[in-house]
Amino acid sequence: MKTYNFSAGPAVLADDVLKASSNFVIEHSDSGMSILEMSHRSQPIVSLFDETTKRTKDLLNVPENYSVLWLQGGASLQFSMVPMNLLTKNCSADYIITGAWSKKAAQECNKIRKTNIIASSESDTFTYIPKKIKQNLNSKYLHITSNNTIYGTQYKKFPKVENLNGCLIADMSSDILSKPINITDFGLIYAGAQKNMGPAGVTLVIIRNDLILDYDRKLPTMLNYRTHVEKGSMFNTPPVFSVSVVNETLKWIEKIGGLEQMAVINQNKANKLYNEINRNELFFSPIAKEDRSLMNIPFIFSDKRLKDSNFLEFCSSRNLHSLKGHRSVGGFRASIYNAMPEEGIDELVKAMQDFEKNI
Ligand SMILES: *Cc1c(COP(=O)(O)O)cnc(C)c1O
Repeated sequence: MKTYNFSAGPAVLADDVLKASSNFVIEHSDSGMSILEMSHRSQPIVSLFDETTKRTKDLLNVPENYSVLWLQGGASLQFSMVPMNLLTKNCSADYIITGAWSKKAAQECNKIRKTNIIASSESDTFTYIPKKIKQNLNSKYLHITSNNTIYGTQYKKFPKVENLNGCLIADMSSDILSKPINITDFGLIYAGAQKNMGPAGVTLVIIRNDLILDYDRKLPTMLNYRTHVEKGSMFNTPPVFSVSVVNETLKWIEKIGGLEQMAVINQNKANKLYNEINRNELFFSPIAKEDRSLMNIPFIFSDKRLKDSNFLEFCSSRNLHSLKGHRSVGGFRASIYNAMPEEGIDELVKAMQDFEKNI
């Protein structure tokens, strides 16, 4: 029986991607060597990085004046690198708090420069995205988390930055490549790979080039975007294998028909699950309808007397794994990233229906 992995991250990867990647581990590009053994200065690996960057630019329609970087340290390091690099003396930044990750991002910024929390849905346990926001007209950037992995909310429309010299910055770790986006709406986007792109170990950063021109502090070399732009993400030994898996994921998305097609598939998958949560009286979604994520779908028992572990064990016995909600929320969470096949959703919906019948 096939196993479906609903983990929030590290998360499911497409079968084609796993097969190709396991071949690289044995031998890469007719070199007689494993990709794990190859110099990042060798021709096949330099080409691999160029190819992966080109695919990313093509799929996301990245304009000429942006750079694509492959960095280490996870999305969590970007919480610090963004303010370190972008906030010069006397600059401040605005943050919207929509969950645990944006809160962490703001906390890191606050260690570096003045940080304005301009909106937060924390008092309602992050069940919605705040829409009424009052921006500071002199803030250098507005930071958002486009999809809240833990709480299951997602921006359907991005806020416009009011400062004409400011820009929008988004942590897109859990919805990058799930739909087309307009890169020019953003100054900088970052995303850890292990949700929707590949394995842990590499973080995608897309940065508008003018943002790295202006800073007045000496930054550690590794924490300076300029280092990585100038050296094509190869200042030091990069996470070659992780990047090769991302490249396979990009090829897989191309084969499916690109991000427009990906978005249609994701909408359809999410609809199926939300419809069942809606129909099935055992379950409900605590999340505001208009803000519901298409990637991470939390749901809870309507009757608090029912034990979460009973449903989790029922799912486990059907090879539906990692459905436990985040410890701060409880209940259940189905992460249905790009690589979760529609059959996985069908199996989960069937499990919800059978559990309802048997109770
Ligand atoms: C998982 C996640 C992070 C943390 O990513 P790391 O790569 O582990 O640092 C940050 N933001 C969001 C939205 C996430 O889903």
